[in-house]
Amino acid sequence: MEFTAQEKYEFKRLLDGLRGKTGRGTELISLYIPPDKQISDVTSQLREEYGQAANIKSRVTRLSVQGSLESAMSRLKLIPRPPPNGVVLFIGAVDAGANKTEMYSVALEPPDPIVTYRYHCDSQFLLAPLEEMLADKKTFGLIVIDRREAAIGVLRGKYVEPLKTLTSTVPGKQRKGGQSSHRFQQLRLIAIHDFYKRVGESATEAFLAIDPKDLEGILIGGPSPTKEEFMDGGFLHHELQRKVLGAVDVSYTDESGLYELVDASQDKLLDLEVTQDKVVMRRFMKELVSDKGLAAYGEAEVRRNLELGAVEVLLLSEDLRKTRAKIECTNRSCDFSQEQTRTSASEPPGSCLKCGSALAVAEEEDIVSNLSKLADKSSAAVKIISTEFEEGAQLFKAFGGIAAILRYKTSHI
Ligand code: ZN
Repeated sequence: MEFTAQEKYEFKRLLDGLRGKTGRGTELISLYIPPDKQISDVTSQLREEYGQAANIKSRVTRLSVQGSLESAMSRLKLIPRPPPNGVVLFIGAVDAGANKTEMYSVALEPPDPIVTYRYHCDSQFLLAPLEEMLADKKTFGLIVIDRREAAIGVLRGKYVEPLKTLTSTVPGKQRKGGQSSHRFQQLRLIAIHDFYKRVGESATEAFLAIDPKDLEGILIGGPSPTKEEFMDGGFLHHELQRKVLGAVDVSYTDESGLYELVDASQDKLLDLEVTQDKVVMRRFMKELVSDKGLAAYGEAEVRRNLELGAVEVLLLSEDLRKTRAKIECTNRSCDFSQEQTRTSASEPPGSCLKCGSALAVAEEEDIVSNLSKLADKSSAAVKIISTEFEEGAQLFKAFGGIAAILRYKTSHI
């Protein structure tokens, strides 16, 4: 299941929230239940843990551990069987400040199937398996090559997976007695060419097996001039040849060279990551200064254009931390209500413009979700822009984190 930019953002925010929660002792329970696991097995394990918790000496800890386990067991009753990707539960008495704790519980289906069952008790929730699912899964083809040997592998997210090593029959530079120098050179060149061809064929086979939309690019490493000879010689399938990002100097050409290649290519990889964001932000900046002016920014202006269906691409900063709330008057005989953008969920909503009574928040959601939903209604694309490059930082600082490229120009009212 591939996450959309918005889902990814929401998931990230959820993890941020979970990361901030702590327990007093080891009473925070994280359960990762794979799709094929029987819920009844999990429940009986928790019951056992509950019994063992009776041995905990500190009364406070014992009670809160048992409370968390009880809460986990009753939550599991609501899940007759795990959903297709399994289910993750975070449950426990979390620190609520002012020397108080409150029972927290959330159940969610992860974006990828859970493979390993985990029951984890700690003073923090176990988030690593979810973080890993969220991590970039972009795939790169890797080739390291000199005239003697080559290694082929792939980089998936942060992980290098070596696939194949090959060795050549290219003779050394020293010719044996009795061979003419010319003949020797000729044989040597043929052997080199054959080796490149074999490496190209193996790499082609390995990389064409990857879904083309997942294969972001191919990195080639090795000493000069081998890597250039290989890169420019057309030894890869033409579809793959187009994806070659460049050649980098590395000193090893066995499996360890694959790791060296990834290290040496960090700049290229990082560039690629922000490139898509950069392209769309540059387009926005260009529209901003052009006469046609197909650009809008600021929440009110963008919201207005979204409502008109005039937005082609909605640009939202990843650092945006605001909510959109429906505010209602607490006075029952007053019908005042309005929508409000709030910088923090704890901000008091103020008093009623009609009757002066206190206002209360009736509904509240993250502004990124709120605007994204509005964008969906007119099939506008939504881009969550990182602040880790100049134009991205500008979107946040200069444009309030909300901007849009328009389909057509709308007039101000
Ligand atoms: Zn009122």
